[in-house]
Amino acid sequence: LFAGPVDFVKGVVAMDGLPPADRPEVCFAGRSNVGKSSLINALTGRKGLARASNTPGRTQEINYFALGEQAYLVDLPGYGFAKAPVAVVAKWQALLKNYLAGRATLRRAFALIDSRHGVKEVDHEIMKLLDRSAVPFQVVLTKTDKIGREALAKVIQQVEDELQKHPAAYPELVVTSSDKGEGIATLRAIIAGLD
Ligand code: GDP
Repeated sequence: LFAGPVDFVKGVVAMDGLPPADRPEVCFAGRSNVGKSSLINALTGRKGLARASNTPGRTQEINYFALGEQAYLVDLPGYGFAKAPVAVVAKWQALLKNYLAGRATLRRAFALIDSRHGVKEVDHEIMKLLDRSAVPFQVVLTKTDKIGREALAKVIQQVEDELQKHPAAYPELVVTSSDKGEGIATLRAIIAGLD
């Protein structure tokens, strides 16, 4: 699945802008700066494909990437930016809600958690939304090269405790470092295994 071409398809700002639901897709969600762009770039082997969520103009869009004609990778807008105006936050929350609840071809969501920070209140809120939308989701820990073994064990425990509260969650987390390439093959295999 990841051996073929990967292309940016479009940035979507409203439900009617979504591409036809003609193939399976997975989406990536996480707080701004969690390492979402880096992870998508590592997965696809394409540096610069997904741009950091603080790139002006791209912040509030749902970005679609195509893996050949077989599947979509969907980059959801980064959340938790206190600076964003209330009206902007409300608009993307509505889009996110409608997308998660209404996208029949969405196979799985990956909820990215920064291993240095663990699960924050906004992450908890997103997981609740995934539960309510009945979107099966899996946590991906990012930037694990930045912390030691003990800290990693601790954050894994915290995430596992959190996941107990979420009926839509898979119990297994994926431990990654986009910088070191850790967990990338595992995540590719998970995505390739969905149909
Ligand atoms: P986004 O806002 O979620 O798209 O986050 P980015 O992918 O732009 O990453 C935010 C910052 O974290 C950047 O400075 C990245 O270089 C850094 N970063 C992302 N992934 C990793 C990682 O696996 N290891 C390390 N050490 N830094 C990372």
